[in-house]
Amino acid sequence: MSRRLSDLEKRIIEILETAGDEGLLQRELWNILGIDSRSGMRVVARLERRGFLTRKRVYHKGKATYLLRLSKKAGEEIEIPQILTVLPCFSCPYIDRCDEGGSPDPRNCIELDKWLRNMKIQHGGVNSE
Ligand code: SF4
Repeated sequence: MSRRLSDLEKRIIEILETAGDEGLLQRELWNILGIDSRSGMRVVARLERRGFLTRKRVYHKGKATYLLRLSKKAGEEIEIPQILTVLPCFSCPYIDRCDEGGSPDPRNCIELDKWLRNMKIQHGGVNSE
């Protein structure tokens, strides 16, 4: 199961998006983010494993480092399955603050509950097929 991107991961993707095809040296990224290489490398390795960026070993000023570039996956548009386009959350004014344990809480949402019940009646369950 894929998990959401952290704020730091999103920030790295934004920075690499701005860097474009030229890419960015790993150490320049640490400087922009104000983080040390140890924590930075963990996040970058995770993004690489998930296919969001590529790392190429290069030499800069005589030292080995990595050139980071955003992969195509990061720029791909996400296709929303048709069945989800009528999900009430997409047009909900509270979506930015809706969270488990918050207010509103999706677990107590009447609109979402209504939509789920309707989907169950129409499709015998909710899936993207
Ligand atoms: S769960 Fe309910 S309150 Fe939350 S975003 Fe969806 S429709 Fe809005």
